[in-house]
Amino acid sequence: MNRLNHYINGRFVPSMVASAPFAVINPATERVVAELSMGSEADVNLAVEAASHAFPAYSALPLAERIALVAKVKTIFERRYAEMVSAISTEMGAPYDLSNSSQAACGPGHIQTTIDAAKHMEWEERTGKAANVVREAIGVCGLITPWNWPINQLVAKIAPALVAGCTVVLKASEQSPLSAQLFAEFIDEAGFPAGVFNMVHGTGPIVGAALSAHPLVDMVSFTGSTRAGVSVAKAAADTVKRVSQELGGKSANIVFADANLESCVKRSVLHCFNNTGQSCNAPTRMLVEESVYERVLEIATAVASKVKVGDPTQPGNHLGPVVSKLQFDKIQKLIEIGIKEGARVLIGGLGKPAGFETGYYVKPTIFADVNNQMTIAREEIFGPVLVIIPFKTLDEAIAIANDTPYGLAAYVQSGDMDKARTVARRLRAGSVYLNGASQDYETPFGGFKQSGNGREWGKHGLIEFLEVKAINGFYAA
Ligand code: NAD
Repeated sequence: MNRLNHYINGRFVPSMVASAPFAVINPATERVVAELSMGSEADVNLAVEAASHAFPAYSALPLAERIALVAKVKTIFERRYAEMVSAISTEMGAPYDLSNSSQAACGPGHIQTTIDAAKHMEWEERTGKAANVVREAIGVCGLITPWNWPINQLVAKIAPALVAGCTVVLKASEQSPLSAQLFAEFIDEAGFPAGVFNMVHGTGPIVGAALSAHPLVDMVSFTGSTRAGVSVAKAAADTVKRVSQELGGKSANIVFADANLESCVKRSVLHCFNNTGQSCNAPTRMLVEESVYERVLEIATAVASKVKVGDPTQPGNHLGPVVSKLQFDKIQKLIEIGIKEGARVLIGGLGKPAGFETGYYVKPTIFADVNNQMTIAREEIFGPVLVIIPFKTLDEAIAIANDTPYGLAAYVQSGDMDKARTVARRLRAGSVYLNGASQDYETPFGGFKQSGNGREWGKHGLIEFLEVKAINGFYAA
């Protein structure tokens, strides 16, 4: 069995304190595919000390040298791309085409835009009479990531942190360590000085909590659930670290009667189900103008009836399983609650799809006649489950869209661009998408309200890892 170890001070090492390994399970086969060494506070201490020791020399390297090292990671990533596609698919169930075209592609994509952003960043700025305001690396960073877009989240943190001159300790999700392990191999081969990049495997409450509380960690960048994000912020408070949070969502998708219904409803349903519904910014609450409500239900049902689930190793646009038994059970429970609270199942529902007894497969499900106070309209389900809510007026649509503790994303479908733009400005969300627009790697990604306070990707993602220093009198004669 393949044993995955930590990476500390330039070497792959086992845990300091012997403990039972964690079984990494392929969600499509339910088979154990690797054993993960589980870290303790002692491993975190070692990794943080290595990062702290490496920081002064690494942060003092010229920017061009740091960029060259990170660019080398991109070259290695591209050479070993097929291994990454397979690792992601095996650990979290993304079908081959999705893993190849989107999941793994985020790695080289974020590295390149981070490098471009660093080249255009205003690193120094003269202000006032003679001050020089300089941006420099914040220090040692703890990076904690989830399993749903594993390489996207890893690289959206590691690339800007390393380009900025920070040193890091990564704790990837214990559900998706294969991609993290492979990425650590890329970093190892690129030849960073020992201690610049470290990785400790383990659980959130042990390794994540130790990292969040460690006095030598200057910043924690966290992506995951709002529940865990709150714990991280509390643990970090005593040492006054910067905490950057990228948390959950329950994003509204407003469909106005003047939209091109056939195309926008099809696109919206498929978007909600993409990655088997396991995307933080998925358009999971479809708000539909009353005059076209019945028509939208018809289109949505027709689209969903053609969605297939299937083996992730096979090419095609089918949905894979959800990540784990725990996630499968949580989704079933929420579907059950939806039915009990009076929502109407249009398609899908409880249980596994026929013929998929092995693997954590879920039936793609749509609920109609939902109101925004129902549990399925308020809680993040994180599976292929869409809820449809009717509305009467534009103001009511905006009120429903904003009536959520989250604020990650929002979507507007309308044939009237002026209306779409006006609505976008009134939505309390970090990203708004008009008529199927997608987001490129240069554009900031992050949330309002309980979806977090961080911004990742491109220039804004790089700024997260920088401190601002005012050197007064710098330009004095
Ligand atoms: P999770 O919160 O359970 O775990 C995320 C990471 O935090 C894991 O590495 C986990 O081990 C760690 N963790 C858990 N408890 C912790 C604690 N007390 N202290 C420190 N670390 C802890 O989330 P998940 O199930 O892995 O991922 C799904 C969640 O992530 C969803 O809520 C989703 O919306 C969110 N997410 C948000 C974004 C974003 O950019 N806003 C992106 C992807 C996923």
